[in-house]
Amino acid sequence: MRISLDQLNFNNRFGQLPEVFYTRLQATPLDNPKLVAISQKAADLLDLELNNTCKEQLTQVCGGSTALEDSDPLAMVYSGHQFGSYNPQLGDGRGLLLGEVTNSKGESWDLHLKGAGTTPYSRFGDGRAVLRSCIREYLASEALFNLGIPTTRALCVVTSDTPVYRETEERGSTLLRLAKTHIRFGHFEYFCYTKQQDALKALAEFTIQNYFSELSDKDDKYILFFKSVVERTARMIALWQSNGFAHGVMNTDNMSILGETFDYGPYGFQDDFNWHYICNHSDHSGRYAFSQQPDIGYWNCGRLAQALVPLIDDVEALQKVLDIYPQLYSDQYLSLMSKKLGLLQQEPEDADLIKDLLQLLHEQSADYTLFFRALSDYSPDHESFELISKPESFRNWLKDYDNRIRRNLESDQQRHSRMQQVNPKYILRNYLAQNAIEKAEKGDYSEIEQLMTVLQSPYDEHPELGHYAQKPPKWGKELEISCSS
Ligand code: AMP
Ligand code: MG
Repeated sequence: MRISLDQLNFNNRFGQLPEVFYTRLQATPLDNPKLVAISQKAADLLDLELNNTCKEQLTQVCGGSTALEDSDPLAMVYSGHQFGSYNPQLGDGRGLLLGEVTNSKGESWDLHLKGAGTTPYSRFGDGRAVLRSCIREYLASEALFNLGIPTTRALCVVTSDTPVYRETEERGSTLLRLAKTHIRFGHFEYFCYTKQQDALKALAEFTIQNYFSELSDKDDKYILFFKSVVERTARMIALWQSNGFAHGVMNTDNMSILGETFDYGPYGFQDDFNWHYICNHSDHSGRYAFSQQPDIGYWNCGRLAQALVPLIDDVEALQKVLDIYPQLYSDQYLSLMSKKLGLLQQEPEDADLIKDLLQLLHEQSADYTLFFRALSDYSPDHESFELISKPESFRNWLKDYDNRIRRNLESDQQRHSRMQQVNPKYILRNYLAQNAIEKAEKGDYSEIEQLMTVLQSPYDEHPELGHYAQKPPKWGKELEISCSS
C-alpha cells in the first residue's frame, strides 16, 4: 500500500534517549525551495506515493518551512578523529535527524535533513550545504547501493534562492538522507572522552537493542557488538577497494556503526587505476589515499575499541577482536577480486594473479572499470585489449590468467555471463557528476535523471546510453574536489 507523507509512521527512538545525546530544534527555512531530484527507489523504502502533492510537501519540508507531522527534529552530538587528531566537539553542525519511520515491512529508516541550518554544533559553519555537494551525495548513495555496497540512501535534493558563500556564492540546498541509523563511531568517542559513563552505557544498550538485537541477551554483548562492527567495516572497505571507490574523508565521525558508506564528500571512483589515488584535494598528506583505506578502516576500529574500554574493561579481549580485521579484510577482498576475474573456487596462487594484475593496471594507468568489463570478453581467439598501452607487458599475465580459467571447467560464455554481473559497465565518474551539477546549477535537472538510469542498473548494457561508460575527457581527469561543501 502506498501512503502520503502525513501517513508516515514515526517512532523516533533516538529522541527518547536523555537530552545529553542531542539538541531539539527545527530547520531554518530556505527561500523559495525547488525540487531538484527525487528517487523512486528510495521513496519505495518509505512506501511513499510519489505524486505531485507528495513532491510539493517534500519540497517544503526539505526547504525547512514545514515540519512533518509526528517528526521530532534534533541535532545529534558526537566527536571524532579527523585526519588523525581528536576533535572533542562535533555533532550535526548542519543536519537534523527529523525522526525515524517504520515502513510496512517493519523496517526503520532515519530521515536526516542535511543543510538544515545552524545548530549548537555548527562551530564556525553556516549550517548549510550547497547544490553540488547534495547532488554528489544523492548520486553516490544510489550508485553504491546498486553496486551492492552498503550505504545510506538519498530520497531527494532541494535547492533554493538562499545564497551560501563558499569559494563563490552558491545556492543553499538540502539532501534528505535515509539510513538505518546515524550513530557513528564518533558518538561512542564523545561519551567516552567526556567521561559520561552512564551515557556511554545507555548508547551501547540503545545501539545493541535497536540494531544488533540478536546480541541483546548475550553476556559478552559489548564485545560481540564490537566484533560485528569490525566485520561490517572490513567488508564495506573490501567492497570499496574491489569497486575502485575512494571515500576521501574517513574520519571516525563519518564511520557508521553499521558499516555503511556514510557522509559523501570529495569521494571518487578510480578512472585510470592509481593505487595512491587521492580523491580529496584537501588531503595533502594522502592519509585517505585509495591504498590507505583498508589500514584506516582498521585504525578507525581501533578508535572505537578505545571508546568502548570503559564498558568492557578487558582491553585484551578488545584487541583480540580488533586483530581479526586484517585477515577478514584480506579474505573478503580476495574473494571479491576472484569473482571480478571470473575465477571459480579459490586457489593459493590467485592472490599473486590479482596482485600482478593490479600492478600492471597501475603501471599502465588502465581504466579500472573498463578493463574488468573488457576482461569478461576474453577468450584465446579474441584478446585485443586497447585499454592496456603496452600489450607485451600484459601478455605474460594473460597467459597465467588463461591457464587459471581453463581450470574453471566452464565455457568462456559462462564465465562472461558471471563476470558481467560483478563488473559494472557504469560507475559514477567524477566528470559525469560534474556534468550533471553544471547543468543543475543552470536550472536543468535532466542530466541527474539520465545518469541515475545507468547508475541504477550499472551491470546492464544500456546501448543507447553507452557514452556514460566512457573514460573521462582531459578536464574530467583534472577535477579537484575538496572538502568544501
Ligand atoms: P563533514 O566533513 O561533512 O563530515 O563535516 C564534519 C563536521 O563539520 C560535522 O560536524 C558537520 O556537521 C560540520 N559541518 C560541515 N559543514 C558545515 C557547515 N557548513 N556548517 C556547520 N557545520 C558544518
Ligand atoms: Mg561528517
